[in-house]
Amino acid sequence: MTNMTNTNIPTSFETLGLRRELLQALEEVGYTSPTPIQLQAIPPVLAGRDVQGIAQTGTGKTAAFALPILQRLADNRRQAPRGGCRVLVLSPTRELASQINDSFRDYGKHMGLRTTVMFGGVPKGRQARAMANGVDVLVATPGRLIDHMQDRTVRLDMVEVLVLDEADHMLDLGFIIPIRRIVSTIPAQRQTLFFSATMPNEIGTLAGAMLKNPVHVAVAPVATTVERVEQGVIFTDVARKRHVLFDLLVDVAKGRTLVFSRTKHGADKVVKHLNESGIPAAAIHGNKSQPQREQALANFRAGRTRVLIATDIAARGIDVDGVGHVINYDLPNVPETYVHRIGRTARAGADGMAISLCAPDERAFLKSIEKLIRTRVPVMAAPGQTPQARAA
Ligand code: AMP
Repeated sequence: MTNMTNTNIPTSFETLGLRRELLQALEEVGYTSPTPIQLQAIPPVLAGRDVQGIAQTGTGKTAAFALPILQRLADNRRQAPRGGCRVLVLSPTRELASQINDSFRDYGKHMGLRTTVMFGGVPKGRQARAMANGVDVLVATPGRLIDHMQDRTVRLDMVEVLVLDEADHMLDLGFIIPIRRIVSTIPAQRQTLFFSATMPNEIGTLAGAMLKNPVHVAVAPVATTVERVEQGVIFTDVARKRHVLFDLLVDVAKGRTLVFSRTKHGADKVVKHLNESGIPAAAIHGNKSQPQREQALANFRAGRTRVLIATDIAARGIDVDGVGHVINYDLPNVPETYVHRIGRTARAGADGMAISLCAPDERAFLKSIEKLIRTRVPVMAAPGQTPQARAA
């Protein structure tokens, strides 16, 4: 079955309606397109809705809530009260709290908003002083926030947006009672965003008590996809990639194969090389017209072109059964994209294999992917070669 739906949904940060200062910051941090959780969550958050999201770290969920929150703060600027904040983000650990604070700072750097972070294990005085004049965004771990509430160095009676991140982890760390206590001091008239990697009963109950008529968003759990697909990585130089791809298509990936390229230009170059080498291939990406994309897909489905080269955005909404191999010509810089890509094979219980080509400057991407999927991708040899060792 093939279908090409989703062609009218927003696929870029611009079409999501983010303001210029945010787009500029995103360009500076190098994000070119939204991740699936960002596509799902940004519109309802911008619309002021409560959101209940199921997403793991690595999916881009921090930006999924931080970007629309920053936009809403800037749309309606207002001074936070002394000791108070307009947005409160609760995070289970100091590391995550710091990262979230850094993200708000990076994305909001052209907006002149004030953010601060507080967690335990460091003196309270500086944290209290940072709050003295009020901040736009406060990121906090629950225990330290309660200390400050008791010291009356923080007040939460003017909070407009509450974010609870990694709720299931909060449960594991025994933070549910502190959270209920914190939430009871925040106005009921607020926007609440609730994120968790899993939704056990206790977390579902907590969400039910905190959220009003929430929009539900979810991205596929990483493990189920990853377990179904056999994976391998070939270490190679950039210059050799096209030869390795050709050899793979001749010797290993002999059936219907989807090849992912990070850029449109790269996709076109690969198609040209394959066609010149006698392998029928076509590309689908954002510079192709809708009829061209549909034609390429129809040919792929019918087996007239057995190799389709796609960029991540163009591949969204394509649903083709019987893809025996996915080849990552380039590794994605968002680890979750890897999981989405490899999920294009091994559909409907079929066997599938995903092979990634990894150049020296992509090793950091591979590391993040392996962290997300909690497995090492086995090293493979390029056809006819001995495997290149994994760097330490
Ligand atoms: P998170 O799930 O929020 O921990 O994000 C995982 C990683 O993905 C972080 O290193 C982010 O900087 C990065 N990231 C988030 N959104 C995007 C995007 N749209 N494009 C590229 N990288 C992203």
